[in-house]
Amino acid sequence: MHGLMMDTPLLITGIMQFTDANFGQREIVSVTADNPLHRYTYADAFRRARRAANVLKRLDVQRGDRLGTLAWNDYRHFELYYAISCYGAVCHTVNPRLFGEQIEYIINHAEDQYVFTDVAFVALLEQMQDQLETVKGFVVLTDAEHMPQTKLRNAMCYEDLLAEESDRYDWPDLDERTASALCYTSGTTGKPKGVLFSHRATVLHAYGEAMPDVFDLSVMDCVLPVVPMFHVNAWGTPYAAPMVGAKLVLPGPKMGDGQVLHELMESEGVSISLGVPTVWLGLLAYLDESGQTLSSVKRIVIGGAACPASVVEKFRDLHQVYVHQAWGMTEMTPLGTFNTLKPGMADLPQDQLIAIQTKQGRGVYGVEMKITDDDHHDLPWDGKAFGGLKVRGPWVCSGYFGSEEARIDADGWFDTGDVATIDPEGFMLITDRTKDVIKSGGEWISSITLENSAVDHPQVAEAAVIGVAHPKWGERPLLIVVRQPGADVDKSEMLSWFDGKIAKWWIPDDVVFVDELPHTATGKIRKVDLREQFQDYVLPGS
Ligand code: AMP
Repeated sequence: MHGLMMDTPLLITGIMQFTDANFGQREIVSVTADNPLHRYTYADAFRRARRAANVLKRLDVQRGDRLGTLAWNDYRHFELYYAISCYGAVCHTVNPRLFGEQIEYIINHAEDQYVFTDVAFVALLEQMQDQLETVKGFVVLTDAEHMPQTKLRNAMCYEDLLAEESDRYDWPDLDERTASALCYTSGTTGKPKGVLFSHRATVLHAYGEAMPDVFDLSVMDCVLPVVPMFHVNAWGTPYAAPMVGAKLVLPGPKMGDGQVLHELMESEGVSISLGVPTVWLGLLAYLDESGQTLSSVKRIVIGGAACPASVVEKFRDLHQVYVHQAWGMTEMTPLGTFNTLKPGMADLPQDQLIAIQTKQGRGVYGVEMKITDDDHHDLPWDGKAFGGLKVRGPWVCSGYFGSEEARIDADGWFDTGDVATIDPEGFMLITDRTKDVIKSGGEWISSITLENSAVDHPQVAEAAVIGVAHPKWGERPLLIVVRQPGADVDKSEMLSWFDGKIAKWWIPDDVVFVDELPHTATGKIRKVDLREQFQDYVLPGS
């Protein structure tokens, strides 16, 4: 027998309409290239989202079309999140920090119909536009005064487009499983893979994220996401913050600037902020140098990479800020675990407390978790056994965009590629990755791409790249090379080989030359052994 409750679909449109009705006057404050401090309300944002939806209609955008964005965290990007998804199209956020070829691949693979871009990325797009065959035009996210001279085909000015349209628009009734957004993740092997989010997953994720033992968001909060809106939807904050009526502060291109972040936090009364460890190391260094502190920030969420104990301690002791670690992945919208204490834990001795706080946290309702051995047998939650971490739930992906291959097992579990322990209280600790990619400042660097490029050098016989701990970036690549017999290629020649072939920030920090690399029985390089061998390696300048 079915219950007799309404079958109201879970739509991002619902978040927008609820926020508009209940929290219309709460603010969104943004830094943009053309305005150091833009300020308006949720009501303004959604009014402009309706204009933007009329623009999409005028451009003849169809349901399900992918529309690319190359943009920082700011109000125009926020408007597009809602306008595109609630129109029934797919907001495809592209990471502008990727190397040109990857951006090209991603836009082509998604078959984006239009690309909305910040002024800063116009030159980049001009170079590749001939390869972007599906893109019918480019909308530059600025006003007429700041519109650059551009060779982009069918270039349009966002503010001009909006000005021509009405702010009345009837949002369509969509199925809650309708695709809302698309974000590519660069995995270990081959090409980036597209994670296709749905309205339903996004709404449930926002609910889960806002809960008291998770982000604990309320209308009293002011949220500063220092995680890019082009990387897993800024961890869902553009949905969870409006849902509860929290004020939103968006740092635009200034995400890595400790001084700007500090000023925004103080002037806007930020209570909670989120980012990868690199961001917080930068802010702590700025606070240290300038002798400043944080007066309104109460909690900081750190995820994307493991959080060092020193960061938890510095925020607590010097700035009275509580650090929560979070773990997740693009394939999980992204939230999986969150670190909040259970009763009695706060009274534990410092060393035990810090050991708990530096774990990745416990499962958020909505995500089931388990660890398994190599034969896929479940392992106990004893804090000792470690195994492959698998997850299941309504905001976990089941496959990748444009791929027929199922990514979940017969029982519906998704293999995260992480290796973890789970203790009897449910706190998960990542011990390793089954993937070999390197995470620098929260962004993936593909070791395979680097290795393939290194091996292209005529004097290189074999190469491996591993991540080595770095105090600022978390990890940086170390290139390990076996020279061809008789060859004499050196470090500087090797590093300059990468110029123009890969993104600058992917270039390894150091090169080590060895006689041979360790191999498995099937001839694969044993990265595990290399990581062990170089675990204490100190990179130059670190
Ligand atoms: P991405 O899809 O780029 O967000 O990367 C997801 C991966 O980042 C996960 O599978 C983990 O390997 C890693 N990761 C995310 N959060 C954490 C964390 N708190 N500690 C350690 N690794 C993390």
